[in-house]
This record gives sequence, C-alpha cells and structure tokens, in this order.
Amino acid sequence: MNSVAILDKLVGFATVSTESNLALIDFAGAFLRDLGARIEVLPNQQGTKANLLATLGPTGEAGVLLAGHTDVVPVAGQSWSTDPFVLREAGTRLYGRGTADMKGFLAAALNAAQLAASGVLTTPLHLAFSYDEEIGCVGVRPMLEMLAERGFRPRFCIIGEPTSMQIALGHKGKTAARATCHGVAAHSALAPSGLNAIHLACDLIARLRDRQAELVRHGHRDESYEVPYTTIHVGKIQGGVALNIVPDHAVLDFEIRNLAQDDGAAILAAIGADAAELSAAHRHDHPGSGIAVERVTAYPGLEVAPDAEIVRFLSALLDAPALTKIAFGTEGGLYTGHLGVPAIVCGPGSMDQGHKPDEFVSLEQMALCDLTLQRLVDRLR
Ligand SMILES: [Zn+2]
Repeated sequence: MNSVAILDKLVGFATVSTESNLALIDFAGAFLRDLGARIEVLPNQQGTKANLLATLGPTGEAGVLLAGHTDVVPVAGQSWSTDPFVLREAGTRLYGRGTADMKGFLAAALNAAQLAASGVLTTPLHLAFSYDEEIGCVGVRPMLEMLAERGFRPRFCIIGEPTSMQIALGHKGKTAARATCHGVAAHSALAPSGLNAIHLACDLIARLRDRQAELVRHGHRDESYEVPYTTIHVGKIQGGVALNIVPDHAVLDFEIRNLAQDDGAAILAAIGADAAELSAAHRHDHPGSGIAVERVTAYPGLEVAPDAEIVRFLSALLDAPALTKIAFGTEGGLYTGHLGVPAIVCGPGSMDQGHKPDEFVSLEQMALCDLTLQRLVDRLR
C-alpha cells in the first residue's frame, strides 16, 4: 500500500474530535504489527479513544520519532463538494477532511514504517499518533507523562503538521481562559443599587487591552511571525437576561497567544491579579461579588535555534530546505517539555487548506514527504 492508498483508508475514519478514533488506531496498529513493529495502544480513561506508539528497529537506541494527531475538526456547517470522509483524487489534489491536517503525514509515516520494515535498522523509528489535539493538545499528555517516566528519549521529534514541507522552527504558545463575573441583580430603574456583571466584565476587558498595549510596546518581539508579539484577545462574552434587569452574571472567554520567550502562565497570573484588584473595589458594598479567572487549556510555544542539530539533520533530507515559523500551535512544545528532546514541525500540505471545506493535500506534497521520509529511513539503516 503506498501513502495515497493509506491516506484513502485514514480519511475514511471520521475521527472528528467529538468521536472515537479507535477504528483508525485499530487499523494503524494492525498495519504496524504486521510490519513487526512493537506497538502500544494507550486508551483514555473512558476507553473511547487511544494514543498509539510504535517502534521499529533495535531497542535501547534513541531514534527518530514521527508524531501526529489522529483527530480532525468538524465538517458541520461547511459546504463540501463531496463526502469529506471519502478521499477524492481530482487533478493534482487529494480532497478530504484531514488530508492536510494531518492524515497526509500519518499516511506518509505509515508508509515510511513499511519501508523501514523492509530492511534492517541500526537506529529505531518511532511513531506516535495522538487523539484530541484539535481541542487543545489534550490527548497526547498522558502518553508523554508515561514516556517521560519511562525515560524515553528519542534524538529528535518531527511533528508532521502541514508546513508545505518547510522546516518550522517555532510557533506561539496558547492559553485559553475564562473569567466569570459575579455582580448583584437589581431593577434597572435602581441600577446603582446593584452591581452590573457586564460592567465588571468590561473593566476586565479594559485591563486586558492595557496589557496588550504594554506587550506591543515593551514585550518580546520576533519578526519572523506575522504578528511579532504576544497577543491577548477576548473571543466570547455572555451575560444579561433583559434590559430592565441589572445583570448579576457575565462570562468572558479569552486567550493569550504567547511567543516562546513570554510566559503564558505568568501573563494569566497577572490578569488574575487584575481581576482580584477589580473585585476588591466592590467587596465592601457587595460581598460575594467579584471576578474569578480560570485557565481552560494551555500548550507551550515552540522555539528551535536555526543552527540546532535537528535542523541540520532535517535540512539534509530536503532538496530545497526552507526555514519558517507557523501561526498555529502543535504538540511540539509538549514533546520538548515532557521528554526534554528537540521537536520541529514539518509536514505535507498547507494549513491554508486546514479546517476548511474541500480541504486537500497535493500529490506533489505527498511525494515530497514520502521522499523525505525515505531518506530519513535510509539514515537509520
Ligand atoms: Zn493539526
């Protein structure tokens, strides 16, 4: 089976993050087991989803890890020309949900495993397939905790998110958070006797915007990003029941997208201090009121030096290596953080097509990924 035939199978498993990925894991696990790989299926607590870890080649050597997520974003509300879960080849493109993000790479990785199994490796090839990446890099964490405990230390991790096969040296980290504002309800004719939770929310938003302005003026900068500084943004606000009631409840969902040099947790802690200060101003008149800030999800940024060994290694596998940085997040920072090993992002297709209707990867990108991984396997002989 070549990588396109494998991709055809993988796209057929509708692994939207809300659904199980077990059928895909069963397929990939059987495929790898048949090749003689040592595999481990690591289910979640409910047994509805699983991570898959596979190793070909000798034990006790570090090796190279190819990592990717099995889940895809939903297709609901999107206008697709054909069934998103049936791979469609048209001209130079392969259409289907997940072709770019990132089953194209998973297919190429399975194809590389097939190639690796056809000869003897002196250095192992590891594959790690995760679940629930699209909802905040959630699924990979228990696997990484287990591997960290075990002392698993591959030499390099390649995260195959779509970069058009460019070498992505980094991306920003992300912290998603929620602020719940508790006010005091009143008839709007007596508005000053209550405490308006929406007004509290606005006070906090003003602080968020001050912090953003401060980050723009004095924060770290990395001009290789389209937005070269850390950003803070409110994406959702909820509150109020009727115009004649002073609202006692409002909720803000906001996020921090931080450069790897900035600490997302520290910025969130500072916002928490802002919320505490705003709350304290009302405690005397309205006991029980206030703003509570909580972290919802977070993943770290990724930053690899352009002259790092992993960059030289991967560059040597490409005919025209190009270095870049990406706007979207990956599991890469978690691999580096948990395992203490360098991770880099490089995979077929472009995120310009990811998460959209009629998502595709080109045959040319698949061929380029196949060639690169073939050269990688040759290095492991
Ligand atoms: Zn992805």
